[in-house]
Amino acid sequence: MFLQESETDRMSISGLHPEYRKCRRGCCPTKGLKGRQRNKTQDVEDPFDSSNTLLYTVLLFFRRYAEVGVEKKRSGILTMKFGGTSVGSPESMLQSAEIICNAQKEWQCVVVTSALSGVTDLLLKGSSCAVSGDVETPKKLAEELRDRHKQATEAVVQSESLRTQVNNKIGILIDNFENLCGAINVLGEATPRALDAVASIGERSSIHILSAVLQELGVPSEPVEATQIVVTDSNFQAARPDLKATTVKTRSLLLPLLEANCVPVVTGFVAATPDGITTTLGRGGSDYSAAILATAVGADEVWIWTDVDGVMTTDPRIVPEAETI
Ligand code: ASP
Ligand code: MG
Repeated sequence: MFLQESETDRMSISGLHPEYRKCRRGCCPTKGLKGRQRNKTQDVEDPFDSSNTLLYTVLLFFRRYAEVGVEKKRSGILTMKFGGTSVGSPESMLQSAEIICNAQKEWQCVVVTSALSGVTDLLLKGSSCAVSGDVETPKKLAEELRDRHKQATEAVVQSESLRTQVNNKIGILIDNFENLCGAINVLGEATPRALDAVASIGERSSIHILSAVLQELGVPSEPVEATQIVVTDSNFQAARPDLKATTVKTRSLLLPLLEANCVPVVTGFVAATPDGITTTLGRGGSDYSAAILATAVGADEVWIWTDVDGVMTTDPRIVPEAETI
């Protein structure tokens, strides 16, 4: 099943798209938490002139309570997943960041992102060239990946020091890609475990860029490697999550961040065995990551941003006759 947001939907979501308003659980946004809080404050204000000290103290307590509530302005936890095309160009990366920026005014947001579009394919191409003894192509691909991420970072991150930090982190990951390809070349084979280590590098890179953009927009944010929180079996390339272990780890890492109004930007697709060996959930697995993380944190809603309109009968890249339901 393919869930999707059209370009126009994405453009118009600043301030929440009507479709999303419709699907929000519990209450209509205009009559939501904010409305209820306003009423609560009024309730306690009207009789506030009372000379009864006990009543005054009680009212003061409720008033404080109401004020704290107003500051929080939260509708619950929202998991937002952005696919490769939603972060694949500077324009879409900025648009995605703006969507997150708006949503986090109302929600505690957990963001899940894919690699920049096409990056996972390039990484896996590198490993298959390495298997066949081709030493040069992985090196060229590493350069291409370095440039691609550098250009993306340059286009969307203004602060030089933040940009340097992001570039350094991604640089280390791409060095790692080159080393893995070197090892695969020497061995002459790529095990599923090695392929997961290679394929994970796209998401492990993109989280740094998106998180930096959010920070520059004034949204406290932290890049999070899902290897720290999503626990799976060792069925590399199609690993199955252990929801119990994942829930414990996810809650202990993400909930304090959410409480501190910080937006975690988590790698989709990637996970780890209980021993911390990197696994992946299978190609296109970051939607699955979003669902797993949403379950683990007890999210109220999951929004998925990807590259087709609505929900489709099958993958339109494989079956051109696929229809929007
Ligand atoms: N980047 C991974 C892939 O291309 C996962 C995803 O995009 O969902 O398969
Ligand atoms: Mg992808």
